[in-house]
Amino acid sequence: MIKPMTDARARLEHAGLEATPRRIAVLEALAALPHAPAAQELLDTVRRTTRMDKVTLYRTLDLLVEAGILQRHSGADGTFRHCMAPAGKNAAHGHFQCTRCGVMTCLPSLPAALDAAALLPAGVTVEHVEVRLDGVCGRCQRG
Ligand SMILES: [Zn+2]
Ligand SMILES: [Zn+2]
Repeated sequence: MIKPMTDARARLEHAGLEATPRRIAVLEALAALPHAPAAQELLDTVRRTTRMDKVTLYRTLDLLVEAGILQRHSGADGTFRHCMAPAGKNAAHGHFQCTRCGVMTCLPSLPAALDAAALLPAGVTVEHVEVRLDGVCGRCQRG
């Protein structure tokens, strides 16, 4: 979890990006959501505070992913989700996605048993680990 505003600004500046109101708005909206939202949900959240069209959101997301501030995850439904990249107290983490409602939840961490090095051929460097568990969430199971 990041603290909104000050952390958003710090992360932008640390990545060498200007802390524009739109970039801050996108990061704050992501920090406020308890899961990794699809673009439309993120846009709806950003628009509560800031005027933004879809093209601008996509451009901003591309920039923030390139800068390593956000991570992009592919959903089981083929849509992309975004959440904060690991930094500080925000650890590397996996995701759970419900195959019925599509909500992608950030998990607190990666399983410690994931020993990727043991699976890989010699000389391989891992740059990104993506773990996604798919299933049915509690809400959909009750409904
Ligand atoms: Zn569900
Ligand atoms: Zn996440």
